Amino acid sequence: MLEKNLIGGNWVGGAQALEIRNPSDLSDVIATYGLAGKSEVEAAFAAARKAQPAWGRATLEQRSLVLEAIARGIFDNKDKLAQILAREGGKTVPDALGEVTRAAHIARFFAGEALRMPGEKLGSVRPNVDVEITRDPVGVVGLITPWNFPVATPMWKIAPALAFGNGVVWKPSEKTPGISVAIAEIVAASGIPAGVFNLLIGAGPDVGAAVIANADAISFTGSSTTGRRIAVACAERLIRCQMEMGGKNPLVVLDDADLELAADLAVNGAFFQQGQRCTASSRLIVTSGIHDAFVKACAERVAKLRVGHALKADTQIGPVIDDSQFQKNLGYIDIAKGENARLAAGGEALELDTKGYYIAPTLFADTTNAMRINREEVFGPVATVIRVADYEEALAVANDTDYGLSAGICTTSMKYARHFQRNVEAGMTMLNLPTAGVDYHTPFGGRKASSYGPREQGRYAVEFYTQIKTSYLLA
Ligand code: NAP
Repeated sequence: MLEKNLIGGNWVGGAQALEIRNPSDLSDVIATYGLAGKSEVEAAFAAARKAQPAWGRATLEQRSLVLEAIARGIFDNKDKLAQILAREGGKTVPDALGEVTRAAHIARFFAGEALRMPGEKLGSVRPNVDVEITRDPVGVVGLITPWNFPVATPMWKIAPALAFGNGVVWKPSEKTPGISVAIAEIVAASGIPAGVFNLLIGAGPDVGAAVIANADAISFTGSSTTGRRIAVACAERLIRCQMEMGGKNPLVVLDDADLELAADLAVNGAFFQQGQRCTASSRLIVTSGIHDAFVKACAERVAKLRVGHALKADTQIGPVIDDSQFQKNLGYIDIAKGENARLAAGGEALELDTKGYYIAPTLFADTTNAMRINREEVFGPVATVIRVADYEEALAVANDTDYGLSAGICTTSMKYARHFQRNVEAGMTMLNLPTAGVDYHTPFGGRKASSYGPREQGRYAVEFYTQIKTSYLLA
């Protein structure tokens, strides 16, 4: 059993065993981990509380150099990390490499932000008084992250947390412990003082809950159901929280769109990384003039996608992460069939040479926005087409959802593009681009049930990871 919880600079085990298998090949047992429990959570917070004050007082340059070392460590090990991620998470190697590289860029970006620690000097309404606005770290932050981007998502929390002087207790998804440990090893080797950064491999309902009970702030990425529960728990303790949650992202295709481009964007946005992206283009909303040609073009592309073992060079679509996602995805395919959606491609589990969690990329046509398949997040290789009469109906359908993460439109009309950008209820909008795929230095987040609290990523991260102090000084 691997002793892979990082507490106060030491690697320690846990009582309960967790076996991890390769979702591309269930006969491949990757490792067994010792899961942390409540006592490990308490030890991690004790270590972080001891180490954080000095880290919060460290010079900006000391913190920046640590972030730089983390970025370098990830860049230098990118191929090894991508292999771990592909084997454990089922991402294709190019996909995994893209994510790992992105994480390195994020760490590098925050090495710069650490030096820029913003502050402000204001005039006073009183004579001979100066006003200074400075920022302090929040304290020890709890970071709770999902399995679908198990490197980049944690890094866009870890990097700003450390850059602005906080202690960190990180609880990744228990589905991806191997890549989490590999990232923690790089952080631990960056020159960071022992105890500032801690990793707990443990289950959400007990270790996650204990993290929430001990932290000064929680940054969470995961499902809206879990996020809502955590936000309530944070409110009870009056600690700040930042929730990035699910999506049911619309991609609108208008009659005047470039058909080939629109079909490429839709298939990319809906199916790559097996559709396991919060920003996946899961609802394709198409006006009637282009509808039939669009469905045909998409179905042809979907049928040609090569599903296979994530580590094979020609694979485009790997397995879904585990049995629970596999069963959930197949359940939604059955629900859509039961709702009389028309199967345009896929629609079944696939048996390949290696036994894994493979699902044929699945496209349903003739769906309505009221169907369950269009209201609930599937989080897998399943997308739908909704036929609408015109742009106005397309916008209304796009906004008729509990979620509001990302929304895209394919059109050659500037009038519709600008109207959509202004009126769609989403935190991120895309013109002639898939709903998935964002830059690493820009604010990331949504509206409605997709996000709660301040934005992640980029310069806006400082809002969550610092607290403001306003000082009045007699001149
Ligand atoms: P999840 O089940 O909500 O889990 C997310 C994290 O929360 C995991 O670390 C999980 O631990 C932990 N957790 C579960 N129950 C908890 C509890 N009661 N208290 C504290 N922590 C708890 O989500 P997931 O299945 O890992 O990820 C998929 C979801 O994430 C999708 O809905 C997707 O849209 C969303 N997502 C959103 C974004 C975004 O930025 N908006 C990005 C990526 C993914 P365990 O793994 O140990 O259960």
